[in-house]
Amino acid sequence: MDRGLVSNPKDLERMQQELVSLDRRIAALEDEELEVMERLEAAQAERARLTARLAEIDARTAELTESRDVKAGDTEREISAATEERKVVASGVPDDLMALYERVRAQKGGVGAAALRQRQCTGCSLQLNAGDLGAISKASPDEVLRCEECNRILVRTPESGV
Ligand SMILES: [Zn+2]
Repeated sequence: MDRGLVSNPKDLERMQQELVSLDRRIAALEDEELEVMERLEAAQAERARLTARLAEIDARTAELTESRDVKAGDTEREISAATEERKVVASGVPDDLMALYERVRAQKGGVGAAALRQRQCTGCSLQLNAGDLGAISKASPDEVLRCEECNRILVRTPESGV
């Protein structure tokens, strides 16, 4: 009866070689496992780093979005206050002067009038000569003055220098 004992020396030798081969294979697989574990650890560390970075970016985005919304609200309030103020000021301006202003404004990139400050048109920076300043100083306060250079309505102020 066969009890599982190997009595043939050739079989024994073959089995021993198989054992050595299996040991080598096990050692190789263990090395591979170690390498895979190291790569896994590195990948997990990278994932953790990227997750943290993503959270930072999300927080910064939320911060900037809130800031943008606040500024947009401020700007809207400023625009509506300026629009209201413009209505009040425009209601005191005669119709023909308002029409002239609107015409010049359309031609001059949204600025139809400029203050005369220190003998200079603040619309185009033209320095007025003595002759022009003399004419301006003699002009009636109701007279509508225009800048010779940029054609804007020239507004006299206490700092006009005339
Ligand atoms: Zn000018």
